[in-house]
Amino acid sequence: MAQDASEKTGAADERRVREIAIVTGASRGLGAAIAERLLAPHRRLVCVARSGNDALAARAQASGAPLDYLRHDLSDAQDTDRLADALSALLRAHRDARRFVLVNNAGIVEPIGRIEALRSEGIAAALQVNLASLMRLTAAFLDATDGASGERRILGISSGAARHPIAGWAPYCATKAAVDMFTRCIVDEQSRRANPARACALAPGVLDTDMQSTIRSADFPSIDRFRELKTQGGLISPEQAAARIVAYLERDDFGSRPVDDLREHAGR
Ligand code: NDP
Repeated sequence: MAQDASEKTGAADERRVREIAIVTGASRGLGAAIAERLLAPHRRLVCVARSGNDALAARAQASGAPLDYLRHDLSDAQDTDRLADALSALLRAHRDARRFVLVNNAGIVEPIGRIEALRSEGIAAALQVNLASLMRLTAAFLDATDGASGERRILGISSGAARHPIAGWAPYCATKAAVDMFTRCIVDEQSRRANPARACALAPGVLDTDMQSTIRSADFPSIDRFRELKTQGGLISPEQAAARIVAYLERDDFGSRPVDDLREHAGR
């Protein structure tokens, strides 16, 4: 989907905008819940996905929160480049903002199956959506805000699967592990800079989203664990996870652990 579809909702009073927050994968699931939490009159929220999110647009309209909704396909490198250029222009236009936030949330779990069954198309899609587009958008974010005086925070939504192998999920595990290491590299590189950007790759726990439906209808050795989590009420709602993630994002010590897991912060 190579398109420049862009919709703008909410207050146009740029003088009130003190923060720019970008959320990828904001059409549903965790990203939609994080985006909803981030809607605020003082924050210009920039959302990305292939499909729209009418509920989010309605909430933005009702609350007077500025929302840009950019429809791009992160599995397409050229479309991701176009998105990166659009985000750079937007960030540069708000260089005096007090805070810049990038939430790299978009992700896909497929292809699921034995490694023997992997083919180039599925491998390329997983690498592009989960890793390459995240790197490209992070590059654009860091470059466009370089030298700005505002605080910069980058949150990558990682997974327990980045840190523990799951048979049948090799591309997902590998791309999420790479997101963890990429995040460590951001932190290392930035530590040498004035006004370093902070970054964290955060695993959110197992969530009740479309991704889990995809997982439950696939075929891999530990599938029963995921089916039981659903039937026994063990999944976290995206709204609950988003509340905790946004609180985590706001913490004074955000970025002090470049790789973290929400489950290690129970009750905090
Ligand atoms: P969903 O499948 O519910 O939502 C995925 C989001 O990513 C959608 O908004 C989708 O938008 C977007 N997306 C997918 N492919 C593309 C693409 N090619 N271009 C643009 N956007 C795309 O997933 P979750 O909400 O469950 O997952 C969110 C994040 O959390 C992911 O990074 C996932 O790996 C991670 N995570 C999820 C867990 C879970 O249990 N669900 C556990 C641990 C981590 P659209 O289709 O409209 O393009």
